[in-house]
Amino acid sequence: HHDRKILVQLISFESRRQILVTHDVTQSEKTDTMRRDFIANASHELRTPLTVINGFLEHALNSEMGEETRQRQLKLMAEQGQRMQRLVADMLTLTRLESLVQPPSSDTVRIKPLLNRLVEEARALSAGKHSISLQAQEIDLKGNHDELESAFANLLSNAVRYTPDGGHIAVSWAMENDCATLSVIDDGIGIAAEHLDRLTERFYRVDKTRSRSTQGTGLGLAIVKHVLLRHRGRLQITSEYAKGSCFKMIFQRAQLALRQD
Ligand code: ADP
Repeated sequence: HHDRKILVQLISFESRRQILVTHDVTQSEKTDTMRRDFIANASHELRTPLTVINGFLEHALNSEMGEETRQRQLKLMAEQGQRMQRLVADMLTLTRLESLVQPPSSDTVRIKPLLNRLVEEARALSAGKHSISLQAQEIDLKGNHDELESAFANLLSNAVRYTPDGGHIAVSWAMENDCATLSVIDDGIGIAAEHLDRLTERFYRVDKTRSRSTQGTGLGLAIVKHVLLRHRGRLQITSEYAKGSCFKMIFQRAQLALRQD
């Protein structure tokens, strides 16, 4: 097959017998390449804020500056420091999720109160610039609370960050076609069709400059994808450029936790 790489080994034994062993190394080479790309991208992402911080420090050490300039530069340095912190936190989350072989514990996670809190946090992030609504049913899931929280939080913060001021965001948690579904719908900048398949790749961004200015790490949807893999869920994205997007996390019925009370 043209895009497979096969390793062939001829092993001799008992002087006259031989066996031919073939290994299909396509997948392991792909994984290697992905790992190398990840490290290259992550280093690049970390280098940018470090360069800014080092430049400011150098300048501050070597020149006199007024109090106002000093304050402004310290603020810029703090922003870059926070950016590195978000990036390292997301990288740790993602690597941890990938290295976990076991399925998440099957604790009952109460989704409605979790969403209530996350929507409050999204409203704080939006600082009154968007209207954010929530409609949630009392449906609970089996799984890991912190993993689900970080996946939900990523979808909400994306909706806020990629929706211009004055926009609307509707969050709902309900049964749809026998599956528990979290929908996050925004009327923001939207995504052109050709990008949709690649959004969950690490560091894939539609618009690099915009994502930087909106504080993204480029890892949010990769985290969402991994959390869903571990909770037998899937992500469905529909979007129209300049109109808005709909991100759905869809969980099988088998993942529901029956209510105790
Ligand atoms: P980032 O940190 O860059 O937001 P994500 O992995 O969360 O990284 O998302 C990947 C890319 O998908 C973003 O850079 C952005 O281009 C696009 N995207 C994600 N959510 C939305 C949304 N709600 N509206 C428009 N574009 C989005």
